[in-house]
Amino acid sequence: MTEALAPLDVGPKRARAPRTLIDPFARAITYLRVSVTDRCDFRCVYCMAENMTFLPKADLLSLEELDRLCSVFVERGVRKLRLTGGEPLVRRGIMTLVASLSRHLAAGTLDELTVTTNGSQLAKYAGELVAHGVERINVSLDTLDPDKFRAITRWGELDQVLRGIDAALAAGLHVKINAVALKGVNEDELAELTAWAHGRGMDLTIIEVMPLGDIGEGRLEQYLPLSLVRAKLAQRYTLDEIDYRTGGPARYVKVKETGGRLGFITPLTHNFCESCNRVRLTCTGTLYMCLGQEDAADLRSPLRRSQENDLVEAAIEEAISRKPKGHDFIIDRRHQRPALARHMNVTGG
Ligand code: SAM
Repeated sequence: MTEALAPLDVGPKRARAPRTLIDPFARAITYLRVSVTDRCDFRCVYCMAENMTFLPKADLLSLEELDRLCSVFVERGVRKLRLTGGEPLVRRGIMTLVASLSRHLAAGTLDELTVTTNGSQLAKYAGELVAHGVERINVSLDTLDPDKFRAITRWGELDQVLRGIDAALAAGLHVKINAVALKGVNEDELAELTAWAHGRGMDLTIIEVMPLGDIGEGRLEQYLPLSLVRAKLAQRYTLDEIDYRTGGPARYVKVKETGGRLGFITPLTHNFCESCNRVRLTCTGTLYMCLGQEDAADLRSPLRRSQENDLVEAAIEEAISRKPKGHDFIIDRRHQRPALARHMNVTGG
């Protein structure tokens, strides 16, 4: 179906750069998420299988190449860059990339440079992130119970992450916690997690599990519709609808009792595609125009074929002209296999 979408609000109003990338549905591409590595120091059960095969290091873009590609996107109207992974803070030399990308913040050509992290390295890097102009980060945390945390992440230590969050808050970062809702695992804890996050001045976003990659377990066992989560939270809290948007797919409510914001990302029960302003770059230079579709464009070859950016810009334009209207995830008893073969650590969530 190629029916046109009504133009929607895709973030703060500003004059568009003349060379802004516009997709076939009149959506301006202003947000690039970059998976700087597919490696991670955790093995979350819904994200990866325990024995993952990672990309050969030789296939990875260097930090200089990542910088060059990101900078081309910034020249073409991208206003927000998010570094993700894998775990972005385990990529060697990552702060060199953050430091060098921060020149676009200083130049006013980028509104926001941000990071999504599991928090394990934050105690080490929070101060440097702030020094390089990062103001907000997302930290993924599904439970405050150390045993459950270990069971979900397989390799993670809750204490280390909590210390990282403390360091981030102390450094002045705005922290948003992202929690994936998992049936029978953390579903009874989400009200508590809300109180904890809001008590420390952090927003919380609850994410519905998405069918990406073979993880060696049935998705149906993990899947918990957020309609149920919300109904349960509404028994304890007053959830007031608010208009707040971060340019992402979350829909927010204000929790009257805590005064904090609570977001819901519901790719399966609610379609968030119509206002999609984002594309995703992997650490090998593959551009995914949609988190939930296989179609992708190789930017590494055009990047490496020429020192000038014409070839890579042409490849980006061609890719954006193929950005699909939306995705179509399904988890039910007839669709036990992943909707897509690739894991979340490849495109970074
Ligand atoms: N390592 C970083 C982190 O933990 O935030 C960044 C990468 S991680 C892939 C990004 C986010 O994707 C995390 O919040 C993680 O919980 C979420 N995620 C991974 N697999 C998912 C899935 N199948 N469904 C929903 N969320 C998923």
